[in-house]
Amino acid sequence: MKVSIDFARCEGHGLCEEAAPDLFRLDDEGDLLALFDHEADLPADRQTAAERAVRVCPIGALKVAGR
Ligand code: SF4
Repeated sequence: MKVSIDFARCEGHGLCEEAAPDLFRLDDEGDLLALFDHEADLPADRQTAAERAVRVCPIGALKVAGR
């Protein structure tokens, strides 16, 4: 699976970072950083955390894609 990130929609709530700190981080400006290659399939051991982050994003800026 892949996770698509709509950076333009992201409002910097940071819930994805709380849900999956190995995958997402907000920088000092409050901009979202992806700590993984979102063009590539996620390794199996990171998928559960990614799904958790997708679920908690309040504005749907994260989506599971390419299953
Ligand atoms: S939870 Fe959604 S809106 Fe908040 S920082 Fe993450 S992607 Fe952006």
